[in-house]
Amino acid sequence: MVETGALPGGRHRAAVPEPEPLTSHGPARIIAVANQKGGVGKTTSTINLGAALAEYGRKVLLVDFDPQGALSVGLGVQPHQLESTVYNLLMERDADPDDIVLESGVENMHLVPSNIDLSAAEVQLVTEVGREQALGRALKRFLSDYDVILIDCQPSLGLLTINALSCADEVLIPLACEFFSLRGVALLMDTIDKVTDRLNPDLQLLGVLATMFDTRTLHTKQVHERVVEAFGDKVFEAVINRTIKFPETTVAGEPITTWAPNSGAAAAYRLLAREVIAR
Ligand code: ADP
Ligand code: MG
Repeated sequence: MVETGALPGGRHRAAVPEPEPLTSHGPARIIAVANQKGGVGKTTSTINLGAALAEYGRKVLLVDFDPQGALSVGLGVQPHQLESTVYNLLMERDADPDDIVLESGVENMHLVPSNIDLSAAEVQLVTEVGREQALGRALKRFLSDYDVILIDCQPSLGLLTINALSCADEVLIPLACEFFSLRGVALLMDTIDKVTDRLNPDLQLLGVLATMFDTRTLHTKQVHERVVEAFGDKVFEAVINRTIKFPETTVAGEPITTWAPNSGAAAAYRLLAREVIAR
């Protein structure tokens, strides 16, 4: 089934193709999901884009790169009980990935969990040589096994986020369709430019994802129009509506694609997955 996109504001684009099945896996594209603003849907989008990509047969590794561990919790993992997390992967050269990578409950999708230990890494890395490349070094061993590695960044532009941007091929920016959502985006773009200049010349903007879209309000449509004005074709056709289903999936500890597979919200993340594969 191929859907044609009807966009808010009456824009239409060509249909997004159904992805070709893969016969082999890797090397992975690394995608950082970043926005220094909290509560814009980074973690929700990482989980659900990952799950939708996995449904399309892509092998996906999710990296929880926020000491809050919300991505881990969202997949039913209790991060404070874990002995090994992304912290060990980052800080210990001989860390065994088999001790760290977890099943996510979704076929084809694995997870590197995180917990508060990661906040110590940010402090410890400051004095290291090549401190911005620590995550890139740690993820190298996974490149051949996965098709997509998604990094869920913390809500800041500190050293952890810089690490994610330094090793990513692409960055995906979730933007909430709310007052002030465009505030701070200039700073984010400036940071991305600096990383591109100084650390990772190959970094690309994959796209901007409109989240928390409230179909009942004019305001949300106006914000969406502003986002399209600012980013043009970089704005994904997929738009994520505001719905209580997302907080509910966190409680359930699974993605929307399995928790409410026939919902509009699941369809939106599947459309996003097809766009990501096509871009
Ligand atoms: P971030 O990682 O950017 O801080 P989250 O993905 O954790 O944002 O989302 C913040 C909160 O909003 C969470 O409680 C989440 O369940 C909820 N949420 C995320 N996306 C939506 C949505 N489209 N509609 C309603 N609530 C959402
Ligand atoms: Mg988050």
